[in-house]
Amino acid sequence: MSLSFLKHSPTKVVLVGLNYKDHARELQMPLPDEPILFLKSPTAVIGHDEPIIYPEQSKRVDYEAELAVVMKDKCKNVEPDEVMYFVEGFACLNDVTARDLQSKDVQWTRAKSFDTFCPIGPKIVTDIEPNNVKIQSFLNGELRQDSNTSNFIFTAEELVSFVSKVMTLLPGDIIATGTPSGIGAMKRGDTVEIKIEGIGTLRNYVM
Ligand code: MG
Repeated sequence: MSLSFLKHSPTKVVLVGLNYKDHARELQMPLPDEPILFLKSPTAVIGHDEPIIYPEQSKRVDYEAELAVVMKDKCKNVEPDEVMYFVEGFACLNDVTARDLQSKDVQWTRAKSFDTFCPIGPKIVTDIEPNNVKIQSFLNGELRQDSNTSNFIFTAEELVSFVSKVMTLLPGDIIATGTPSGIGAMKRGDTVEIKIEGIGTLRNYVM
């Protein structure tokens, strides 16, 4: 079972709307003062090599390469310099998004939460510097996103701290740290890969 690297099922997946300077430039948006948070349903989580199911309701489904933080221990109101004591490690995540429904609904719950819209994997690693690793996505082997987490607007520690001041984080909870520039659409039959330096490659198929 390809999710066996997760010791606990997540009770929530928390994501951030805009967290890369290069992506903000691409969208011609000002840098946010605070992270914009949203949730994905935990039933969207799948593992490496599992299929992403393209939903009937959408005509535009995008990939978004993201670095995920997986929580180890329950925590609440933790400061950035202490959050790593509560973190299990890091993984690649694809924040799959029904872009047309995201614009249509304004609220993002449906666009982000279809079953299979949260691939994570291929494993959890502990020994990376989360704010300075190369992050890339490939569609059918072609490079699509190519950035570095040094472009973060808020560091991984700042994000986890910010979330912990809103909601109690529990073992297995996932926090995704946003996507760099270069997002784009996937079609049925495509292969999508998220590659992060020091972690490896998360590969999924669209069907
Ligand atoms: Mg995202």
